[in-house]
Amino acid sequence: MTGASRGIGAAIARALAADGWPVGVGYRSARERAEEVVAAVERDGGRAVALAGDVAADGVAERLLEELEERFDRPVLALINNAGINRDELAPALDDARWREVIETDLNAAFRLTRRALRGMLRARAGRIVNISSVVALRANAGQANYAAAKAGLIAMTKTVAVEVARRGITVNAVAPGWIETEMTAGVSSELLAAIPARRVGTPADVAAAVRFLVSDEAGYITGAVLSVDGGLAA
Ligand code: NDP
Repeated sequence: MTGASRGIGAAIARALAADGWPVGVGYRSARERAEEVVAAVERDGGRAVALAGDVAADGVAERLLEELEERFDRPVLALINNAGINRDELAPALDDARWREVIETDLNAAFRLTRRALRGMLRARAGRIVNISSVVALRANAGQANYAAAKAGLIAMTKTVAVEVARRGITVNAVAPGWIETEMTAGVSSELLAAIPARRVGTPADVAAAVRFLVSDEAGYITGAVLSVDGGLAA
């Protein structure tokens, strides 16, 4: 899974490892933190390996999947596209570089990883893909045109790929977190709290629980779905 060195991704990695999945802890630069996640999984009796790579860079999707397949000696049958960045700015001031960086990391990389992972899944006639989208794909948030476009694109991609591969035993779903307490949201104003019907910020564990369910055998008939984990924010 991508973006597992901290925040939501680290919680998902630990949850899936607890369910018996050997986990690839993907990260871009935070090697020590990824190693800490691996150590935590191992302390809990699970298997994990840290995998470095900027998912926005050419050829990285291919290399990450190859490394994982070699390391665990099996095809990758669950892919969690979680790596994501935001570069917020109101549209009139949002430059091309920030637009492209977000689309490349949050949307294009998820597509390349999905395409590569489907190879093994189609052969195995089994698989789970979960794309981490966002509430802002469903409900506008000023200053996030790039991020919202990427996250909404992720939902459209999820639905389309889901119907393409449904008959092959592969499910593809999206999770749309609301405001979750991580480093990404460290600067978010507390005024937003009043807009959340549950009147609390979510935790990485709240999101991990949803992903864990979608990856489980019990969720085999759920595909092309968007599961909001947002305390009612998008309702
Ligand atoms: P964080 O910023 O805490 O963590 C981001 C993770 O993604 C890190 O592991 C980081 O690696 C990795 N990453 C970022 N860019 C790249 C890249 N180019 N290549 C590889 N890895 C990369 O984010 P969150 O945990 O808050 O968010 C996780 C996901 O959930 C994101 O997709 C985000 O958009 C989404 N989300 C978050 C919400 C929130 O409220 N927090 C709300 C809705 C959606 P490294 O540590 O090495 O930099």
